[in-house]
Amino acid sequence: MRLIDLSGEIYQKCPTLPNHPPVTFSAYQTHDTVRESEGVQFSCASSFLTLGEHTASHVDAPCHFDERETALSVDEMPLDQFYRPSLCLDLSHIPLRSDISIADLQEAEAKTGETINKGDIILLYMAHYDRTFGSPEFLTDFPGLTKESATWLGEKGITSFGVEAVSPGRPGKNNFEVHLVCRNMGFTHMEGLANLHQVVGLGHFQFAGFPLKIRGGTGSPIRAVAIIDELETS
Ligand SMILES: [Zn+2]
Repeated sequence: MRLIDLSGEIYQKCPTLPNHPPVTFSAYQTHDTVRESEGVQFSCASSFLTLGEHTASHVDAPCHFDERETALSVDEMPLDQFYRPSLCLDLSHIPLRSDISIADLQEAEAKTGETINKGDIILLYMAHYDRTFGSPEFLTDFPGLTKESATWLGEKGITSFGVEAVSPGRPGKNNFEVHLVCRNMGFTHMEGLANLHQVVGLGHFQFAGFPLKIRGGTGSPIRAVAIIDELETS
């Protein structure tokens, strides 16, 4: 078994959209503080961390984009939604700031040599992270799904899809519409993934990306991991 980390880092001032709280991360206590009990000395370091639920690699809970009272919060989502067979589509040739069409998805699916199955988690590799991380464009200049291409994914009966960008559709109308497709068709998505180039061309693999159990949470950071089974050759 081989594990591939598909998660982005959480750190002080890591990139976040203005409608989400910024990350602050600083020392709360350091090893300079030494305590003593019955002659035993001990120090422990701990940090102070504040962050939004939608920080770095994270999953959107339905109640993030669905105003209805029945919409699940992240702690209510079934765990099997976060541990599913997964397939990564290669969309790295799509220019930044352009739309991903149904034809683009069909072509990328064909290139995998496999088919998208009901219940799959579909990862969309757009080479956005490689092309923009570390620049302000990371938050704005990415290719994105449209209402039509998101609907095409939804019609496949997928559990969720995942992107490297901070949102699945380009900023504004497209992003709102993709979220509404998720709302109306009953699936969700992950944002802020990384290292997707490492799972392109592998066919189906097991994906794990469990959220924190945040009561009433509208989303949660996840540790996204691809679990690759290696054939025993000896
Ligand atoms: Zn979202």
